[in-house]
Amino acid sequence: MKRLALVSAIFATLTTAVAHAEEQVVNLYTSRHYQSDEVLYENFTKTTGIKVNRIEGKDDALIERIRNEGEHSPADVLLTSDASRLGKASSLGLLAPLDSKVLEERIPANLRTSDWFAFSKRARIIVYNQKNIDPAMVQNYEDLADPKLKGKVCTRSGSHPYNLSLGASLIKRLGADATEAWAKGVVANFARKPKGGDTDQIRAVAAGECGVAIANSYYFARLMNSDKPEDQEVISKVGIVWPNQANVGTHVNISGGGLVKTAPHAAAAKAFLEYLSTDEAQQYFANGNNEWPAVPSVKVSNPALDKMGEFKADPLPVAELADGVAEAQKMYDRAGYQ
Ligand code: FE
Repeated sequence: MKRLALVSAIFATLTTAVAHAEEQVVNLYTSRHYQSDEVLYENFTKTTGIKVNRIEGKDDALIERIRNEGEHSPADVLLTSDASRLGKASSLGLLAPLDSKVLEERIPANLRTSDWFAFSKRARIIVYNQKNIDPAMVQNYEDLADPKLKGKVCTRSGSHPYNLSLGASLIKRLGADATEAWAKGVVANFARKPKGGDTDQIRAVAAGECGVAIANSYYFARLMNSDKPEDQEVISKVGIVWPNQANVGTHVNISGGGLVKTAPHAAAAKAFLEYLSTDEAQQYFANGNNEWPAVPSVKVSNPALDKMGEFKADPLPVAELADGVAEAQKMYDRAGYQ
């Protein structure tokens, strides 16, 4: 009954949006580029009559673009990944607060702020070489700074949002001094200078160039779901750890979006953001990038994610991650984590 009521509530909102839309269109600035998203947009248009115009770009470039376009920006919705990027868009004043009963009900409180919302979740995991590293040594992010791992640790750049958000979560939990000491310890353990993306770190662990690395869960899942023999070879040589299971839980970040402050089609944009929280859209949105839905009742069927199993997630609110990023960057700079 409850679910039926919710579905009607969503459709009532969508209908209202259509009636008030200046034009039946929503301009979406998105860093997503997945085939499965096509179906998502088509279904939205079928349900509401609102056309989706997509402008694709890299995460930070989209934020810059909206900023440069100023008050005449055609952007209605910004979709990007990582709490730190959405936090940046928000602190630049690019997003508008969105009062939505639907999103409040569907998206857990720790996965939304007043002006942006998570639509999928990813975890930052530890990947280790099965031959050279005992997983008991790397059960927590803190372990990556242990001198026992000297010459074994690989990560992408410390300035990358994924590592900055992780740093922000450590600051909240361990405090500033302990986190800076941690960053110094990680740098002292590097097998090589940070380079490449998360997938490059996983490959380097498989090749034995690194003993351990940190990577977002969907990069690992993507390799697992790949039918390329070289990817399967990589997977056969590495194992994963869900960090900090005995304490706070694994650091979780998000993909999400919000209403652009200057949106020419604000009602349509709201309808679109609410649509992203429906069961159907959640499936496409999460599965398209091997992530988990933000709406807790929605389950995806994804062979890699099924195999990776369940884990305890750090419940730290995404707003707090975004808040701590500037401090994490300063700390990493001092620690030489570039
Ligand atoms: Fe990524």
